[in-house]
Amino acid sequence: MSTSHAEVTPSALALMESQSPIDFRSDSTYFGRLPALNFNLSSDTPLNVINNGSPDPEKTAVRANVDPGAGSLMLSGHDWELAQFHFHTPSEHLLNGVASPMEMHLVFSDSNNDLLVVGRWVQAGAFNSDLDPIFSHIPQNTSETLHIDHFNLNTLIPANLESFRYSGSLTTPDFDEGVSWVMLSQPLFMSSEQINAFSSLFPEGDARGVQDLNGRIVLTDVPGFVTAVPEPETYAMMLAGLCLMAFVAGRKNKPLTSDVPTGSVA
Ligand SMILES: [Zn+2]
Repeated sequence: MSTSHAEVTPSALALMESQSPIDFRSDSTYFGRLPALNFNLSSDTPLNVINNGSPDPEKTAVRANVDPGAGSLMLSGHDWELAQFHFHTPSEHLLNGVASPMEMHLVFSDSNNDLLVVGRWVQAGAFNSDLDPIFSHIPQNTSETLHIDHFNLNTLIPANLESFRYSGSLTTPDFDEGVSWVMLSQPLFMSSEQINAFSSLFPEGDARGVQDLNGRIVLTDVPGFVTAVPEPETYAMMLAGLCLMAFVAGRKNKPLTSDVPTGSVA
């Protein structure tokens, strides 16, 4: 999903106003009921783990490619297929200004080749035996591939699916926009040793810095996170389920009025 970044000139980047990652802040996020995330993930699927970045931090790091059909996400009636998941260090998205040691990205695409990324912060905690087949044998360079015969994709997703959602971009060149982001609020835990095994491959990190919101709307269904109370009509719209990705993407720089967008979510 990344190509040469030589084509991304400074002037081209200046025109891109919906970039990722961002800082999720309590004073600039709207609370509301969000369309359900319906994951359908294989509990026994092979993975091909490659290192497509180290030590070049411009590129996505260690990536697990998933067989077609092994994972899908249904969101607002729209079907997304899991293509791969990968990790960054430190986290790319911040939570009220605070980074986590790592961040996982599950990259989904649809029949139009639009992209949706489900992100999850990784924090230090107990040893993670589910992820150990990856992190105990991380490919050290771009010429190594690690094949894992049996992996349960459900171990990547928490039971509590509360999230932050917004429209952004790839965080690697060419920083293409129109990417739907779902950042899960519940972190994934790995031991410090597992985190270090990854971050030692990227001594300077492989995370892009946070980008300006530029008027984008960020939504969450995490109770108690939002401190600012939205205007009444805005709040009613959120609760009415208008918080589809297309709404977020299409409403940039437009006033919040009452006409209801319909159609696909991405
Ligand atoms: Zn990523």
